[in-house]
Amino acid sequence: LTIPLKEQFIAQVKKDPDRPYIYCSDQVITYREANIAACKLANALINAGVRKGDRVAITLPNISEFVISVQACLKIGAIIVLTNPRYKKRELTYQYSDSGAETVICLNENENINIELLKEKAGFLKRVIVIPNVEVDSNLPEGIVGYKEFVRNSPEYEPEIDIDLEDIAVLVYTGGTTGVSKGCCVTHKNLIAVASGWKQMCQFFTDVEHYKVLSSTPMYHVHGFQTTINANILLGGSIIILPEITIDNIIKAIHKYEPNVWPAVPAQICALTKRPDLPISKVKKIQHLGCGSAPLPVSLIRKFEAMTSVPIIEGYGASETSMAVASNPIRKRKMGSVGIPYPNIDFKVVDLKAGEIGLPVGEIGELCFKGPQVIKEYWQHPDETALALRDGWWYSGDIGYMDEEGYIFVLDRKKDMIICSGFNVFCNEVDDILNSHPNILEAGVVGIPDSKRGETVKAFVVVKPGKELSEDEVKTYCRQYLAAYKVPTLVEFMDTLPRTYVHKLDRKALRLREECYRM
Ligand code: ATP
Repeated sequence: LTIPLKEQFIAQVKKDPDRPYIYCSDQVITYREANIAACKLANALINAGVRKGDRVAITLPNISEFVISVQACLKIGAIIVLTNPRYKKRELTYQYSDSGAETVICLNENENINIELLKEKAGFLKRVIVIPNVEVDSNLPEGIVGYKEFVRNSPEYEPEIDIDLEDIAVLVYTGGTTGVSKGCCVTHKNLIAVASGWKQMCQFFTDVEHYKVLSSTPMYHVHGFQTTINANILLGGSIIILPEITIDNIIKAIHKYEPNVWPAVPAQICALTKRPDLPISKVKKIQHLGCGSAPLPVSLIRKFEAMTSVPIIEGYGASETSMAVASNPIRKRKMGSVGIPYPNIDFKVVDLKAGEIGLPVGEIGELCFKGPQVIKEYWQHPDETALALRDGWWYSGDIGYMDEEGYIFVLDRKKDMIICSGFNVFCNEVDDILNSHPNILEAGVVGIPDSKRGETVKAFVVVKPGKELSEDEVKTYCRQYLAAYKVPTLVEFMDTLPRTYVHKLDRKALRLREECYRM
């Protein structure tokens, strides 16, 4: 736990340089090739003036250069700023200026980035390195350089830069599901803690050399970044990268590469259950199918497992914990639970209003975690830090409880919980009931202001193609399973539900939509 990941990566390169490190489209990149590319980029960054602690924004989709750029930054101690390449100029400018990134690595032909305008707007950017789809280096405006040109004459030796484990390695911006997106300061120590936790979870592999992970979530999000790039380093496995993440491409990759590890998100599992062309025999080769980042309904687990007999291992984590801090043990799962805390994690549930002291088993409160994965602070947001990170504890803003066997159950997010006539309504519980209706494709609820009850439950429902459903039928169905105060009083039918870029239900957007109507 004391050797920085950059050293661990070099050790893997030395151990088996010709082993495939990345599969991307039809390209196979070995450990040796990846390391040479990372050294060249690292030395080029140093020559361009990037120093340890400087921020380098990686604004790329999942492509091999993403992984190479990460390895390059780790080698020189530059702080990686993970940014969503689909962000518009306004959002990118916020993250670049919030992090103080002077260097950006991005795609030249990203439809959402007009590099020239971006540079004009974010005047502090010193260098923009673009990955050209075509050789366009000579036509680029000043301050913007093509990746190939940038590394052309750069040496291949390892840069000698000492890394302190307490140094910040990555700024992971929170998804912004509940509020403003904040940069989580993930240190080199946090990274190793995550990687070694993952390695322990995969101990059941008799031969880790055959570890092959399917990367199907964006690497700029903590889930994709950690499960794909970092967790893999200690295992010396291969990463299967999908430049365009679609269900079709996930199915194709399962077919072609036969991954044995797949960290998925619930929306993907759900989409697969609707695919009769799912290559079941290939899916069965997945020995570790982890799932997290958002609520995973038990009905969905049952459906998927009935189709494939592959067990889904639900885990829980966040940007603030650098990834997972709890997971179901592979051989002792409890459906509906996000699992038990990792061995090195302290856990407590505190009162929602006056939270510091741990509540007894079974009592509902805010979930709190402490341990080597937990970040110390948000980047330059001391007020937010003081609210969520105290004495090493992360106050998650998630509501739940722990049962007598130590399993954690997540009920809702504090900011989403609806209070109707003084009663707490957990959105996830109502969502699950709605989603179990045979005619409903997807559904979600939010709380909206109500003069009598304070708040009331409103459901947004997407009906399955070819099926019909009325508002009254939705309410009657809910009444069978839910206490009266939890039953939606309003139902709106929609064509599709808004989702965040990691496919979480975007309740913020639903609430906003509702507010706009009411204005
Ligand atoms: P923000 O914090 O800015 O609102 P975000 O919540 O989307 O954005 P992330 O760090 O991406 O930020 O997500 C962490 C959250 O995801 C957790 O706090 C929790 O609410 C949710 N989550 C993660 N795993 C699970 C799970 N297995 N079940 C239910 N919720 C989960």
